[in-house]
Amino acid sequence: ASDWSSDVCSSDLGITGGIGSGKSTVARIFSTLNIPVYDADSHAKNLMTTDKILVAEIIREFGTLSYQSDGALDRKFLAEVVFNDPGKLSRLNSLVHPRVDLDFEHWVSRQASAPYILKEAALLFNSGASKKLNKIIVVAAPTEVRIERIRRRDGRTDDQIKKIINQQMDQQEMEHRADYIIRNDGSELVIPQVLRIHQTLINLAS
Ligand code: ATP
Repeated sequence: ASDWSSDVCSSDLGITGGIGSGKSTVARIFSTLNIPVYDADSHAKNLMTTDKILVAEIIREFGTLSYQSDGALDRKFLAEVVFNDPGKLSRLNSLVHPRVDLDFEHWVSRQASAPYILKEAALLFNSGASKKLNKIIVVAAPTEVRIERIRRRDGRTDDQIKKIINQQMDQQEMEHRADYIIRNDGSELVIPQVLRIHQTLINLAS
């Protein structure tokens, strides 16, 4: 039994970590254990074209050029607008976050049979979402390892990757706030770490 005030699963957890830490990779391991995973960043991208209320708000705020004639988001236009103006970026986030929160709540209500669920996001701590989540898993790896992974995955330059890392929360700070830490730096096998946390959560849920 849990004191979490919901009629659905016993708990919802966040999984986060800096760019290249391997949070998506680790989340996939939880998926193979039948744990539902909500990928907040990809849902946010989707909702920006499918959520009529959000679309209307984006057009009102940033103009009709935000969308192409076929309804697709004009990412290049919007990126140019928001990345040159921090005020506009936070305005965009303040439109998107509540709609993602709502979508997440609907999604959670459909996962009634799961012992627990995972919400995956790069910005769990910064957005205030961590307060609503029961526990947080942080995936950790040293900066050099993360840069190497992202260089290979995305073909970005070291400077571009470092810029993103500098915008994110410091890894030590993340670890400090974590309930569980998964070390994805090659020092320890990842799957046994996932299984240990999974077993703990199953025990808590039953
Ligand atoms: P982002 O914040 O960009 O979404 P992420 O934290 O979700 O990144 P992943 O996409 O899971 O990170 O991993 C980044 C890259 O590193 C991927 O190409 C992944 O396959 C690779 N990777 C992750 N963990 C390991 C590992 N233990 N060994 C080797 N490669 C790994």
